[in-house]
Amino acid sequence: MKPIVPFISTLPKQQIKHWIKALSKKMPKEKIVNFSEVKKSEYKNIKLAIVANPKPDDVNKLSNLVWIQSIWAGVERLVSRFKDDQIKIVRLIDPEMSRTMSEAALSWVLYLHRDMPLYKAQQNRSIWKENFYIKPSHKTVSFLGLGQLGKLAALKILNNGFNVCGWSRTKKNIKRIKCFTGERGLKKMLKMTDILVCLIPLTKKTKYLLNYKKLSYLKKGASIINFARGPIIKTIDLVKHLNSGNIKHAVLDVFEKEPLPKEHVLWKHPRVTILPHISANTDYETATLIVANNIKNYRRSGKIPKFINTLKGY
Ligand code: NAP
Repeated sequence: MKPIVPFISTLPKQQIKHWIKALSKKMPKEKIVNFSEVKKSEYKNIKLAIVANPKPDDVNKLSNLVWIQSIWAGVERLVSRFKDDQIKIVRLIDPEMSRTMSEAALSWVLYLHRDMPLYKAQQNRSIWKENFYIKPSHKTVSFLGLGQLGKLAALKILNNGFNVCGWSRTKKNIKRIKCFTGERGLKKMLKMTDILVCLIPLTKKTKYLLNYKKLSYLKKGASIINFARGPIIKTIDLVKHLNSGNIKHAVLDVFEKEPLPKEHVLWKHPRVTILPHISANTDYETATLIVANNIKNYRRSGKIPKFINTLKGY
């Protein structure tokens, strides 16, 4: 009999169906089923589950669960709910997602670098005015986070002629990228930054990392891109810096509350570009293959794939 792997999720029914179909195709030896269809008597036999925004109570019903495979790369909500390390959390690590994110980084860095928000605003008022061009070799793009996503994105920006810096928890040694760690390192990096890209996980240490004081370290007229999680930046502080012109523009893909509420001040702010959390979506094709390989390896060797360190929070 095939072992049951429940898919635990609060996604819309159609999406759940689609995931189960795609996963089942890649794992013919597993019985992938919607959690709502698993009989109570079967709960105790289940060792692993695949999750996408699950209700924690559903996960907790499986008393012998050893690990959960998320189909997302960011798992901060899971980490905050399953702190005690009893259930191992495996997040999606997918080179295709890193590629997509590096493409997003390049797109929005160039959007800011070539002053597209300014030219759009000029067009709205029929203004024909050439603004001063600064070449990439005279600009510095810095990354908060040099992990699976940040490192590849930083290298892509480097290959487009910009000076590149990066900040991480542990010291990195990446050719031609200035790497920093710690509070002092962060301050040093921000002071030389023209465009700041956030690709750092949301943890106790990084929540509201970019507050009024830290944002004021950025070069005057710098811009910011947040691809990570909304609460990395203190929104009111960002708005103050945008209003004063200290920060020229913010491209925001993630927010404290998503979807961003219709009445939110950010929607209409002339110095803000809003994206609906689209910088790097999970790719069905590659993600299902990665999940299938993780599960196949586990069945063969009993080895749980690399899981989240709940003490570090990522
Ligand atoms: P990752 O591989 O875990 O890398 C995280 C990076 O952040 C590492 O370089 C890590 O340092 C650094 N870091 C963590 N805590 C730190 C701290 N307190 N101080 C300094 N540096 C710290 O994560 P990833 O795969 O690159 O993903 C990053 C985030 O992107 C995810 O957590 C998620 O929130 C977000 N994301 C967004 C989207 C989207 O569509 N918008 C899609 C996917 C992911 P070390 O290298 O020293 O460990």
